[in-house]
Amino acid sequence: MLIRLVYASRSQNQSAQDLPAILEWSRRANSELEVTGVLCYLDGVYMQYLEGEESAVDALFKRIHADSRHQGVALLERRAISRRVFPEWSMALLDWNDNTRAIFRSFSPEARLDLYAVDPSTAAPMLRALVRAPGWTLI
Ligand code: FAD
Repeated sequence: MLIRLVYASRSQNQSAQDLPAILEWSRRANSELEVTGVLCYLDGVYMQYLEGEESAVDALFKRIHADSRHQGVALLERRAISRRVFPEWSMALLDWNDNTRAIFRSFSPEARLDLYAVDPSTAAPMLRALVRAPGWTLI
């Protein structure tokens, strides 16, 4: 069974310094696990969308949860899906610009640019909308 899982967490050191190593590892490991998805980082907060076979995603999330590079891991969504939204991406990092910040604000009634404060019910649709927006840099 395919599932998607979305969580938010706080970077341990409140900076993006761990991102290169996390992405390098993830792209290789996720290809082997056939897990795809996207990672957002904004102001010390991570939000990640993972999709793949249930056993692979759950095992990966267990490892991610235990990673000391972040804390306060909050599961926002875990549900069955019929197909992948990001079949090509072993892990894409989403960059921020005026356009994508505006999309984020449109999903956040309080217009706060705080990934950690995103309502669980809007997390997955918001990420899909963000990824479809033109002008993104997929690093
Ligand atoms: P481990 O032995 O725990 O780690 C393997 C390697 O990861 C180490 O050699 C080291 O280079 C690095 N590492 C692990 N923990 C630390 C640390 N605290 N400080 C510095 N380096 C460290 N992994 C994926 O495979 N796919 C993902 O999509 C993914 N997304 C992540 C998102 C976030 C926000 C974070 C914080 C981590 C993510 N990781 C991801 C990494 C994941 O947490 C595990 O480190 C990884 O899955 C390897 O786990 P392991 O138990 O097999 O090996």
